[in-house]
Formats: sequence, C-alpha cells, structure tokens
Amino acid sequence: MLLEVRDLRVEFHTRDGVVRAVDGVSYAVDAGETLAVLGESGSGKSVAAQAVMGILECPPARVTGGRVLFQGRDLLTLGREERRRVRGERMAMIFQDALSALNPVLSVGYQLGELFRVHRGMSRREARAKAVELMDRVRIPAAKERVNDYPHQFSGGMRQRIMIAMALALEPDVIIADEPTTALDVTVQAQVMDLLAELQRDFHMGLILITHDLGVVADVADKIAVMYAGRIVENAPVHELYKRPAHPYTRGLLDSIPRLDHKGGELRAIRGLPPNLLRVPAGCPFHPRCPLAREDCRTGAHPPLFEVASRRASACHHWRETVSE
Ligand code: SF4
Ligand code: MG
Repeated sequence: MLLEVRDLRVEFHTRDGVVRAVDGVSYAVDAGETLAVLGESGSGKSVAAQAVMGILECPPARVTGGRVLFQGRDLLTLGREERRRVRGERMAMIFQDALSALNPVLSVGYQLGELFRVHRGMSRREARAKAVELMDRVRIPAAKERVNDYPHQFSGGMRQRIMIAMALALEPDVIIADEPTTALDVTVQAQVMDLLAELQRDFHMGLILITHDLGVVADVADKIAVMYAGRIVENAPVHELYKRPAHPYTRGLLDSIPRLDHKGGELRAIRGLPPNLLRVPAGCPFHPRCPLAREDCRTGAHPPLFEVASRRASACHHWRETVSE
C-alpha cells in the first residue's frame, strides 16, 4: 500500500473543552488509485488530511494517536527535516482557494520554476522551460505567452490548473486535493476534475480527493470513505456505494444530489445539522438526523464499522435494513 492511515486521532484544545476532530480514522490509497473522502464541513476530513500532510496548525491541534504509513514508513515518527523532504517531494496538496495558496506578487512562471530550481537545481532558463511545459500539460492556453502573468490575471479555473501544475511539478506519489473545485462554476468544476483524473492516471499517482459533494467524485473515484463527526461511517467501492449505500447518512447524501434523470423530483436534504463536536450525541452520533433511528441507536454503544461485504463497511447497527431498503 502506498499510503495507509491507521486509527488517526487529532484533538483541538479549545476554551470550551477538547474537540476530537478526528477520532480513529483509517483509510488507504494505492498507486494509480483515487480515494474520495466525503463529508460535510466539520466532519474532520480536512483536519485528517492536514495531519497526513504534516501541516496541522499545532497548537491548538494535536495528533494524539495513530499512524500515517507512507510506503511502510510512519511519517508521524520522522524528524522535521525528513518529514519536510517527503512532503515536498513525494506528496503534494491542492487547496480550494488557489488565490491564497499562490503568491500574488510573483509570476506563476516564477513560482512554478522555483520548484525546479530549489528541488532539482535547475538554472533559471531550464526552470522557466519546465514551467511552460507544465502549464501546457494542465492545458493553460498560450502557456508561453502567459508564463510571466500574475495569479490574479488568470480565471479561477485556470488558477486551479496552475495549483495542480505546482502539485505535479516534482512528480509526487500522492496528491491530496481538498475541495479542489468547490469554488468554481459547475462546468469549470467538471473540466478541472477531469484533468485531475487524467493526470492521476498518466502519472500513476495515489489521489485523495476531499469533498462535501458526492456528485463531483462519482466519475473519478475508485472508492469512497464517508466521514461524520470525526469518524468514518462508510467505506465502499464507488459503484457499490452509489447502488446500495449501507449507511443512512450516505443514503441521505445520495438523495440530495441533483440528478438529470429526476427532473422535477424533490431533493431530499438530510434534516438537521452535523453535531457540535464538543457535544457529540451519545450512542450513534447520527441518531438525531437518522430516519431509521430507534432506541438502541440513542442509548446503545457507538456503532463500530461492521463488515458489510469484502472491502465494504458501515458504522450502523442496522446496516442490513439500509442496504436492502
Ligand atoms: Fe441510524 Fe441507528 Fe444506524 Fe445510527 S445506528 S445510522 S441512528 S440506524
Ligand atoms: Mg474543509
């Protein structure tokens, strides 16, 4: 396995108490594979990714347990320098907001080229040529003429392509993309997502795609991990998850995707809001919002991940009913 996260735990110490933002999360991605991590905001999906990348703001955040195995080595036990090297060369991250991730006062060609100068010891001229090549690769029109432009001179979609180019520059083994298309128009979203999927295949990378939108990952993910209140509540290969979700929360998310074939049909959003992590409900944390909730959900044990089938798991006591519904 290329990257394996095992039982990861992250806490935030706040004035009101300790928040378990990530509470025993495990997932894995192999070379050439795309894992989508799905959840509403506050579910812990971004925090988990930041812990994996080693870019958590600490304090207040603290990794309190678990392992992040990259090619078998636990990144959490590496020293700062070594960690930085793995992060810079072997893993890369793409964020939602390219404008704040790029330096506004440096041309995109300079920022791309800098990666090759610093990490590959290239001359200015070589680095510039590589920058143009990368801009071409992510299909920025007229890359040669635009290499000296500044981030604000590009559209949102083009800036996101530049961020993808920066992430790709050193040919990492893993890319983590946190809501990479959320800020974009729907049509541009699809183009950027297609590009990301294409590059992932061509470079045979592991891709972790973090999103709140099940609709955008349907065509590109191989498997999905659904997060709720800091934990994974369902794991499944993408097609099986779409066909037969095994957790009521996943079913709710699926029902709230607009579908072309359901014109005029009512969109059922999930009632209520995700819990405040300072006061996670007892029993199953999803019970206040769950249409299937009953007594044992409210008062019983926190549901562990039950094996539903090979490579499938659901943290619902009543997954059998959910699957067959
Ligand atoms: Fe709903 Fe109960 Fe399953 Fe939780 S355990 S998801 S409340 S049915
Ligand atoms: Mg987030």
